[in-house]
Amino acid sequence: MGLFNFARKNGNDIGVDLGTVNTLICTTHKGIVLNEPSVVAIDQSKTPAKVLEVGHMAKEMIGRTPEHIKAIRPLREGVIAEFEWAEVMLKRFIMKAMEQRFLSLPPRVVIGIPSGVTEVERRAVGDAAYSTGARMVYLVDEPMAAAIGSGMPVDKPVGSMVIDIGGGTTEIAVLSLNGIVTTKSIRIAGDNLNEDIKKYLRGSYNLAIGDRTAEDIKIRLGSAVTGEDDDELEVRGLSLQTGLPHVVRLTSAEIRECIQDTLMTIVQSVKSVLEQTPPDLASDIVDRGIMLTGGGALLTGFDEMISREVDVPVHIAADPLTCVVKGTEKILTDKAYSKILEYTQFDPHIML
Ligand code: ADP
Ligand code: MG
Repeated sequence: MGLFNFARKNGNDIGVDLGTVNTLICTTHKGIVLNEPSVVAIDQSKTPAKVLEVGHMAKEMIGRTPEHIKAIRPLREGVIAEFEWAEVMLKRFIMKAMEQRFLSLPPRVVIGIPSGVTEVERRAVGDAAYSTGARMVYLVDEPMAAAIGSGMPVDKPVGSMVIDIGGGTTEIAVLSLNGIVTTKSIRIAGDNLNEDIKKYLRGSYNLAIGDRTAEDIKIRLGSAVTGEDDDELEVRGLSLQTGLPHVVRLTSAEIRECIQDTLMTIVQSVKSVLEQTPPDLASDIVDRGIMLTGGGALLTGFDEMISREVDVPVHIAADPLTCVVKGTEKILTDKAYSKILEYTQFDPHIML
């Protein structure tokens, strides 16, 4: 084995899933070493504003901060103005993940990012990764990484279809021979379900609830189709009439009803991607089924709903929240995907 190959094999390369809700980082030595919320807390009383915390610590501050401290999710719904904070956050996370493991050779970094981001945002992410001392940075479309991480045969000449449902975006793609054949990225995902629940409680019960409660209701009661595990839940909020704390009892059925339109929007996008897929690949997908990844894959019965609506089998990936980061690791370590490294290399010197 030549020295270069030795370094390659033993180099501590890094894979990153830069999600709208969660950021995960793995190293090729240790597997997943970081899993934190994609949140930045900034102090606006300083000029320029200063980052106080990122990740878990910053998330604790959401909704509980004095006025001059703001906790933001910089990758949420295409708010470009906040993207510079994504740069700072990514840099801090990579530094944290690399601590003391920066051996002789600077790492290569593969980052999975939503395929819908603009060129300016891609550059910001790429530059942030280089500024941590990476020797090479690769920007891979999230659905590609998600499909590889869930074990689909993306390098083979067969159609693989993946739906990655995150917090801010849903990414749908058909892949074959290490490339994307058809893809769609929509800004409708888990966050919208939380908004649906908040809106429903306001409208039907005059009750105001926060983000954490909405998330809790979604996870404990949320479902896409009628099922056996229907349940009830007592929920505490603030009455919009009296302004005082108030408790209501919710059922699975009413939550299912209030998120139905959002789920249907996702299903429609899946249909449109299938319609644009060349017939031979579409027939592979009908044979092999569609893979669901991302946190949204955990919504009870969503696999069944999609399968029923598009008439194709749907599988939920094992551990859907880690598919993207596992995919970035495989891209770094498995020769089957070396072609992907060739065309995703980010060149910091190209001017826009
Ligand atoms: P991103 O890639 O955008 O960071 P993730 O793949 O980490 O997103 O998924 C986060 C989303 O998954 C959130 O909207 C969260 O509410 C949702 N989620 C996590 N667990 C569940 C669950 N059990 N049921 C429904 N939604 C879930
Ligand atoms: Mg994701």
